[in-house]
Amino acid sequence: ASRPFIVGNWKMNGTRAMLSEARAIDRAAQRHMKVEVAIAPPYTLIHAVHREVEQIGVGAQDCHPGDEGAFTGDISAPMLADAGAKFVIVGHSERRQGHAESNDLVREKAQSALDAGMQVIMCCGEDAKTREAGEAASFVTKQLKSSLPELDNAGDILTVAYEPIWAIGTGNSATPDDIAEMHAEIRKLLVKLYGEEQGTGVRILYGGSVNPENAREILSTQEVGGALVGGASLTADSFFGIALAA
Ligand code: 13P
Repeated sequence: ASRPFIVGNWKMNGTRAMLSEARAIDRAAQRHMKVEVAIAPPYTLIHAVHREVEQIGVGAQDCHPGDEGAFTGDISAPMLADAGAKFVIVGHSERRQGHAESNDLVREKAQSALDAGMQVIMCCGEDAKTREAGEAASFVTKQLKSSLPELDNAGDILTVAYEPIWAIGTGNSATPDDIAEMHAEIRKLLVKLYGEEQGTGVRILYGGSVNPENAREILSTQEVGGALVGGASLTADSFFGIALAA
C-alpha cells in the first residue's frame, strides 16, 4: 500500500508570517518519510511556500475550469502549476455550498487541473439532513459519480476526500464505523469507474475535525489512506501530531 497522505487545507488563513509554519512542517516531514505530507495554502502563498520547502507537496484549494481569459478574480490551473502547485483540491463543500458549484463544474475543474499536469483531490460529503434521512451513501456515490472525470490512470493522479459537512469545523468527527462504511462505498464506485487495478490505487482520505487526539483511530480505520485537515493544519505542532499518528 502507498504511504498515508496527510494534507493540510489552510482555507482562507495565512499571511507571509505563516511561512515559518510551512518550514517547520517541511522539516518534520523530512524526518518522517513514512508519511506523505502536503499543504494547500491560500493562492497568495503558493509560490512562496513552494520556494521555501523541500519535502512536502504544495497545492491549491480550487481553480477555474478555463486556462485564461476575462474572468476577474479567478485563477486557472496552468497559473497554479506555474506557481509550483502539484495538486488542486476540487469540490470542497465550502465551494459547493458557498459558491453554488455543481458537479459538472467540479468535474471541469478537475479535468483542467489534470490537463495542467497536476493531481486532483476530489472532495465529497453529505450534510446532516441527508445522513439523518439514511441517504448518505447514495448521496455521496451520486455526487462522486457526477464529479469525477474519466481517467485511465486514476491510481496515479487522483485522491478522493470524504468530508461529511456536519463534521467540518465542528470538533465532531465521524465515527470509525461511519467512515469505514462510507469509504467502502467509495472504493466500490472507484473500482466500477476505473477498474480493479486503478480503482484500488486511489487513496481515500477522511476529513472533518481530525486532530492529534483522534487521528490514530481514524487513520487506522479500514480504507482510510490519510486525512484532509483544516483547523489543525495551521500549526506545525498540531498538524504533525496528526502525521505522526499515521
Ligand atoms: P476541519 O479539520 O477544520 O474540520 O476542516 C476539514 C476540512 O474541511 C478540510 O478540507
